[in-house]
Amino acid sequence: MARTAARPEAAAHRELRPAREDCPHCGRRTWADYTNHRTVTTLDGLLRLDLTVRRCPHPDCPLHLRPYRPEEEGRVALPQHEFGLDVIALVGSLRYARHRTVTEIHAELTARGVRVCPRTVTNLLDRYDELRALGLTDTQRLRKLTAAWGRVVLAIDGLQPDVGHEVLWVIRDCLTGEPLLARSLLSATEADLAALLREVQDALPVPILGVVSDGQHSIRKAVASALPGIPHQLCQFHYLREAARPIYEADRHAKKELKKVVRGVRPIERAVEGQDGPEAEVTRGYCLAVRSALTDDGRPPLCASGLKLRDRLEAIDAPSVVWRKKGVADRAEEAPGARRQRARRDGRPVADDPDRLRLGPPGGTAPGE
Ligand SMILES: [Zn+2]
Repeated sequence: MARTAARPEAAAHRELRPAREDCPHCGRRTWADYTNHRTVTTLDGLLRLDLTVRRCPHPDCPLHLRPYRPEEEGRVALPQHEFGLDVIALVGSLRYARHRTVTEIHAELTARGVRVCPRTVTNLLDRYDELRALGLTDTQRLRKLTAAWGRVVLAIDGLQPDVGHEVLWVIRDCLTGEPLLARSLLSATEADLAALLREVQDALPVPILGVVSDGQHSIRKAVASALPGIPHQLCQFHYLREAARPIYEADRHAKKELKKVVRGVRPIERAVEGQDGPEAEVTRGYCLAVRSALTDDGRPPLCASGLKLRDRLEAIDAPSVVWRKKGVADRAEEAPGARRQRARRDGRPVADDPDRLRLGPPGGTAPGE
């Protein structure tokens, strides 16, 4: 039965972009043409994906206007599917490794917070069987799939729903997003994985341009031995995450320390509660600015929360420093424009600069003055 109620809001959100910005055929720059949105049900809850799709704008290129989707999309779910690959892998392992019935699988999924109807479990099981049966013997399918691009970029990934259970290994083509081979393995040694890769290579009518993976040791070795000389790239997400980890840790510590300094906004707010007048208003403005600076998070690794907080706190502190230093009396007579000009000269933001934080009414007094 079709869903009768809307799916709830996605708990997690990810933006995915293609790993490369140049055209795989002509090497010229492609355009980030449009964004696709998908919501996928995973074992960790609903995940919303914003997918940047790039296209080659050059009419003389065979790949002209052919959509190039983010490589990582296929790691989450099959094309056009509502449920993630991790859910499909779990359904398959419950059925075949633990011999559960569809009703039992449905109960297990529901217990894990995956909203699914019993009929869908049957469908997911079918998908699992199809993935498993996905032989490379169907040369016609492969030819049709790969003809447009004339090459493939392989992605290899193992989906393990539970520790100790067999892992569903999926090898797919990043350019089309299509799975090429799926097999359940109890162990994933270098030899096991190399055999899978060789099988794919032998069946493909087109060359393998490169391999993308999460860089697990056995995968690295398997790629090196089965596909010597073919570039193997660590998935950008894992790569960035690993590279940024020390910076992320340092930044998190810095943020914690910074927060200690500005703790206690609430008592100050309470002290001016119900008071009118410019002083109370400016105090409230400052408190609001501090509060929003504290709750405003960065997006690591590229935008560090700690550094952002420091910038914002400095911007809040700057006008009060200026006022304390030069006195506020002569400042009140000035036109706002003149004040902005001086701020620019001094390289400091001021409270009523429209590009900066707005703290209380323009021309108001600094707290404590
Ligand atoms: Zn092109």
